[in-house]
Amino acid sequence: MTSDGSVDSSSFKDPQIARYEFKRALEELRGIKGRATELVSLYVPPGRAISDVSNYLRNEYAQSSNIKSRTTRKNVMWAIESLLGKLKTFKEPPENGVVFFVGTRALSGDQSEPVSYVIIPPEPINTYLYRCDSEFFLKPLEEMLAEKETYGLIVIDRKEATIGLVKGKRIQVQLNLQSQVPSKHGRGGQSQRRFERLIEDAANEFFKRVADHVTELWLPILKDIKGVLIGGPGYTKVFFYEQDYLHHEIKKKVVDTFDTGYTDEYGLKELVEKASEAVEGMSLAKEKKLVQRLMKEVIKPDSGLSAYGEDEVRHFLQIGAVDTLLISEALRKYRIKLKCPSCGYEEKEITVSDPNYEPGKCPKCNVLEQIVEKTDIIEELSKLAEASSSKVELISADSDEGEMLLKAFGGIAAILRFKGGAR
Ligand code: ZN
Repeated sequence: MTSDGSVDSSSFKDPQIARYEFKRALEELRGIKGRATELVSLYVPPGRAISDVSNYLRNEYAQSSNIKSRTTRKNVMWAIESLLGKLKTFKEPPENGVVFFVGTRALSGDQSEPVSYVIIPPEPINTYLYRCDSEFFLKPLEEMLAEKETYGLIVIDRKEATIGLVKGKRIQVQLNLQSQVPSKHGRGGQSQRRFERLIEDAANEFFKRVADHVTELWLPILKDIKGVLIGGPGYTKVFFYEQDYLHHEIKKKVVDTFDTGYTDEYGLKELVEKASEAVEGMSLAKEKKLVQRLMKEVIKPDSGLSAYGEDEVRHFLQIGAVDTLLISEALRKYRIKLKCPSCGYEEKEITVSDPNYEPGKCPKCNVLEQIVEKTDIIEELSKLAEASSSKVELISADSDEGEMLLKAFGGIAAILRFKGGAR
């Protein structure tokens, strides 16, 4: 987030970082309370005419002159005026719309301060909304934060198969297939062996048909599919997975097989419920693996292709030597640029952990220095990484490995491409 409280989720190349920035902004907004109903949230969806919104606000402005409390009235009117000013900087809403949060924040004692945020969300806003309350209205944005990865779903037995996708909580049925496999029972006349052979052939054909449809549906979108879940009532699902029916690229993405009672649309729902725990564990497992990979380097002589600590990692980022940057999501640090307002003397950039850090005096002329730039360190290092095409991985503190990254390595470490130029 920039120091004026704006987040443009579309300005980051790395969706992971954009998501993190967005998450941090919501965290900050959630912590803001008003003394009365004097915090205004304004959601402007794409396609909404800015002039409509301004008219609406002017009407609200007129209404708010009836507010009884003098302080609240003054604060609400200030918020609306300020919104009208901000709206003027937009010709039309951005592609995903835009959200404004403006108001007066209660501080300790009877202190207060004006706050103002402009958020361009990572996904489109659906509805127009104006709300004045003692806290900001964040629900539509918080919903965007929920995990929305896509998984492929197959439920199968010898009679039926259903193929679908799940994204967030929404399940999409893509195809239902019925087989021509005859029942094993109640068939007289033919020799038993010949009959069984017939059944196996028919089943084999059915599994092939299912797999072909899966390939056709998923291969073009495979990069968007995080994993594949297979369900069904009996052993068939395991057989279908273990034999090479599925395209090898799709097979690689199979998370596991799960027992479900049904193989229709309802079976897909059952599958998602059964698999949800396994799926949650997946992103954690990936984080653990990354830290373990780092540790393997750390314990080598001269700590192998690893680097850790802010200074060392920044150095390797600057020379383009970082393959993967590992940053703890729990890191709360800021990179600050100081300048003397009187003589123009500029300090070297520093890193602080206090979000309300107050600068000291200028060493040249003894006047209080000013903060001219303040950046979240995760954002700063990520941008450095982007510049040299290094991968960035944000690691939660939810695993032992994640905690180790934070505590033992100060939350910042890297797996290197090479170690030339080491200090
Ligand atoms: Zn000075």
